[in-house]
Order: sequence, then C-alpha cells, then structure tokens
Amino acid sequence: MQKSILNYVLLVACCIAATLFILNLKRGAHMPKKLETYKKKRDFKETPEPKPQVKSSKGKDIFVIQQHHASHMHFDFRLEIDGVLKSWAIPKGPSTDPKVKRLAAQTEDHPLDYAKFEGIIPEGYGAGTVIVWDTGSYDNLNEKNGKPISMQQAFDKGHIKIFLHGKKLKGEYALTRFKDRNWLLIKMKDAYADARRNPVKTETQSVLSTKTIKKLDKKFKKMKEERE
Ligand code: MN
Repeated sequence: MQKSILNYVLLVACCIAATLFILNLKRGAHMPKKLETYKKKRDFKETPEPKPQVKSSKGKDIFVIQQHHASHMHFDFRLEIDGVLKSWAIPKGPSTDPKVKRLAAQTEDHPLDYAKFEGIIPEGYGAGTVIVWDTGSYDNLNEKNGKPISMQQAFDKGHIKIFLHGKKLKGEYALTRFKDRNWLLIKMKDAYADARRNPVKTETQSVLSTKTIKKLDKKFKKMKEERE
C-alpha cells in the first residue's frame, strides 16, 4: 500500500519536472538571452549571417566597421563587450577629423562571428550587401576618478573612450550617448587625427577580401535578375 503511494508521488513529481523543462525550452531559456533581438529579427534558414552565439575573442577585444548597403547606405560600428558586439549604425560613416561629429544610432547586439561576415543578405531584415570595411583590436581607455572601469560600465554611463588599432582607423575615438539610443562618434585629437583624410570615400575596399560594396551590389543585382 505504502509503496503504491510512493510510486504515485514519484510519477507526479516527474510530470511536474517534465512540464517545467518543456516550458523553459519554449521560453528560450537555453538560448543566449543577450542576442534575443538579433535572433528574432532573422530567419537563419534564409540568411547567411552568423547564428546568435555569445562568445569572446581569444586575444584582445575587437572592433569592426562594416559598410552595409541595405535600404540606405550606412556603416555599422561594432565593439566587442562581454561576449557580444555592441552595435551602432552610422549613416555617414566614421571621420578622422576631430571637428566632425557623426550620428551613431544604437542597433541590436550582434554575435562576435559577425565581425568576419561579408557578402549578400538575400531577403528579409537588412537585405543588401555587406563588406568588412575595417577591423582590429581596441584598447579600453575608460576611467572614473582616475581608476580604470570596464567597457560595460562605460557603456552604461553613456560615454566610451577607446583606442582603435584598425587598418584604416587608428587612435582615440569617443562615443557619447545624447538621447535614448542616439550616440555621437568623434575622433579625439591625437597623432592619427587628420582633417584631410576621408577614408569612407577614398578607401572603399574590404580589409578582408578587397571587395567593394559596388562590386557586391552588381552581383546582388544579377542574382535578383536571374531569379525573375
Ligand atoms: Mn546595418
């Protein structure tokens, strides 16, 4: 008699555990919560973009700037912070002139693997062409009361100071939040500041493949024509 009650209790406990497990799976608790927005916006059966995986680079933290010709041409500036790429869309791209402020609208966090992504996003969210316009490591220059603080702390404060070690962009840059998700990207005065340079216009090749957006646009156009 007592044995059958014990069996019954065990069965009920198992049912509850199984239900909780399934509910948890449905909620997506097993997925990286950090990249939920990135994941929701994309259909990974359609897009060749990297899967939403949270991970850090092996060496120094990295940055990437991608030229992205979607419905509008823009540059996506991304900084590795705690296993994801914090991201901003910069309509006019970065400047090397300290007198120029560039609007940088924060977008959803991207996975680290995105830093190597270039090519064609066929349809859906962000459809268009992408090249890796610049990439490299960066140094965290942020401090508070003379003591170093983390990139995440600087991000939360809305003021980020970094030193870029890119192929096209080098030296100190500042990102400052002024309203909601709107920030400004400014070149700081240092030996790399140069008002005469305009790399966004004159250095158009991918630093990974030497491809240009123009070249990819032609390929994309051909692809669309062939499908019709
Ligand atoms: Mn973009």
